[in-house]
Amino acid sequence: MPCSIDYYRKCELCNFVGKTASNWSKHNKTKKHLLALENAELKKQNDKYKMAELERQVAELTMNQSSSSTTINNTQTNTIINITNIFADPSANDLRDINMPPLDDLLETHTTPSQSIQYSILQMGDLKPLLLRNDQLWIKQDKKWEKGDDAEAVLKKWCNQVQHNYINEINNMELTEENADEYLRASQYVYDDINKESITHKVKGKMIGAKK
Ligand SMILES: [Zn+2]
Repeated sequence: MPCSIDYYRKCELCNFVGKTASNWSKHNKTKKHLLALENAELKKQNDKYKMAELERQVAELTMNQSSSSTTINNTQTNTIINITNIFADPSANDLRDINMPPLDDLLETHTTPSQSIQYSILQMGDLKPLLLRNDQLWIKQDKKWEKGDDAEAVLKKWCNQVQHNYINEINNMELTEENADEYLRASQYVYDDINKESITHKVKGKMIGAKK
C-alpha cells in the first residue's frame, strides 16, 4: 500500500507526529501514549474537583456574609463590633502572608497566579488581608490597614513583585520539545494580568467587609 504524503496527525499529549496511518495507530498503542492519556484524564478530574471545591467555598462565604449582614442590621452595637473586628483586628493576616507557590506547582495544579491568590484569600477567611467594602479596597500590610488609593497602590506594587518573581522563574525554565506545551501554558500564566480585577473576579461577594 503506497503511503499517502498528505497523512499527518499529531498527538498533543506526546508531541508525536504520525506520517502514516500505521505509524499513528502504532503510537496510540504505545505505553508512553497510554500513560499520557491516563495522566491527562487524572488531571482533568483533579481540576474539576478543585473548581467544585472553590465554588463551594465561595458559596459558603457568601452565605456567611448574608447572615452576618442580618446581624449587623439588627443592632447598632453589633455593627460597631463587626466593623471593629473587620477593620481593626490585629490578628488579621498581612498581604505578605499570601504565599505564592512555585511556577511548577501552578502548572501541575492548572492554577493561574490570580486563582492562587484568590484561593489563599478564601482560605484565610475572616483574617484575610484584603477587603472590598462599598467597592473600596482595604489592604493590610506591615500591620496597618490601608484603604482606597493607598490600598490600590500597595496591591499594585505587590502584584508587580509577584509577577516579577514568576517571570524570573520562567526565564530559568528550559524550553525543550517535550515541555513545549507546558512552557506555553507557563508563559500564559506568568504574563497574564495580576491585578485588583483579576483577583476579585468571582469572589467579590466573599471579599466584602461589613455591609452598610
Ligand atoms: Zn500520544
